[in-house]
Amino acid sequence: MSKEFKNIAVLGSTGSIGTQTLDIISEYPSMFHASVLTANHNWQLLAEQAKKYLPERIVIADVKYYHNLKEALAGLPIEVVAGADAIAEAAALPQVDIVVTAMVGYSGLIPTIAAINAGKIIALANKETLVVAGELITNLIKTSNSEIIPVDSEHSAIFQCLVGESCNRANKILLTASGGPFRKLSKEQLDKVTVKDALRHPNWNMGAKVTIDSASMMNKGFEMIEARWLFGCPPSKIQIVVHPQSIVHSMVEFVDGSIKAQLGVPDMRLPIRYALGYPDRLPSDNPKQKLSLSQFSTLTFEEPDYEKFPLLTYAFKAIEMGGNMPCILNAANEKAVAAFLREEIKFTDMPRLAAYTMEKTPFIPSPTLDDLIATNTEALKIADEWLTNLRS
Ligand code: MG
Repeated sequence: MSKEFKNIAVLGSTGSIGTQTLDIISEYPSMFHASVLTANHNWQLLAEQAKKYLPERIVIADVKYYHNLKEALAGLPIEVVAGADAIAEAAALPQVDIVVTAMVGYSGLIPTIAAINAGKIIALANKETLVVAGELITNLIKTSNSEIIPVDSEHSAIFQCLVGESCNRANKILLTASGGPFRKLSKEQLDKVTVKDALRHPNWNMGAKVTIDSASMMNKGFEMIEARWLFGCPPSKIQIVVHPQSIVHSMVEFVDGSIKAQLGVPDMRLPIRYALGYPDRLPSDNPKQKLSLSQFSTLTFEEPDYEKFPLLTYAFKAIEMGGNMPCILNAANEKAVAAFLREEIKFTDMPRLAAYTMEKTPFIPSPTLDDLIATNTEALKIADEWLTNLRS
């Protein structure tokens, strides 16, 4: 077992994955220290976390809360910094060993690139990074000392199935999906679901963005793209399997026909603990995190309904086209989810908005980072156009 002490930067420490990462850090105080904490705007919780974990530096992306934070932490040996650019800088600090990328959406991209360039271990929880810039990130990793350990439960499962196996021997990835709260609804019923319905996930307790993405199956589409880059697996060899109990977190089929699966209770602290401890498994006595198989007499698996959940089909289309298309889909989806959460559009409008944006945004087959940044801006603008047309 490696005894090395690890300094951790938690980017997005006030969100769902961020707070659960801090739970794990508290469980193993002799192994981990929270060195850097960053948040978008929740300065009160960030101040509270800073007092408890005493990081060397904290960053608030929204500069208007800088003075509140500074005042709340007066007298403590904590450097307080503000601004989105400061997040990337903090991720690359020399004392940091592991960077947990737990921020939501596109905002994860630039700090993750900074952390890779600084040779950090990336505990990747921000799936949009690989959706937007999978090829670019994969190439960066190859030429750096950095390494990605996935935190997403499905990718952690696939990663764990592949430990000790040569990647070449895998035949296909079986990516499991809970199917979300609307699995059994008809197309007509889907038309009428509310924000409250969509936020009620049957198994997982997550942030609002990923919960809506789970309900629309966009999350599974993004996870397919994430798996494509993390494991170098062509999309045609990634099969989506709906498994409503969320006990099997994903599987890998090998060339001999054998399938390996990873099982556990649906609790994000398990994959977080694995990512922080890797290659070691850290002991835990938490009874709530132990799976009692006798409570699950039936585990079921079925095909997803691509017709009912077009965003899943669009994800396959986007990765097949490649280039900046996944980045366009991601930007459209960020707009769509925000508009749905504001109750401006229907649940079934989200794929319509995505289709429009994918059609109208100029396609670039081999985008640079600057192209992707410009694509994101352009696609957000085009998605806004669609929203404006809808209102008029
Ligand atoms: Mg997941």
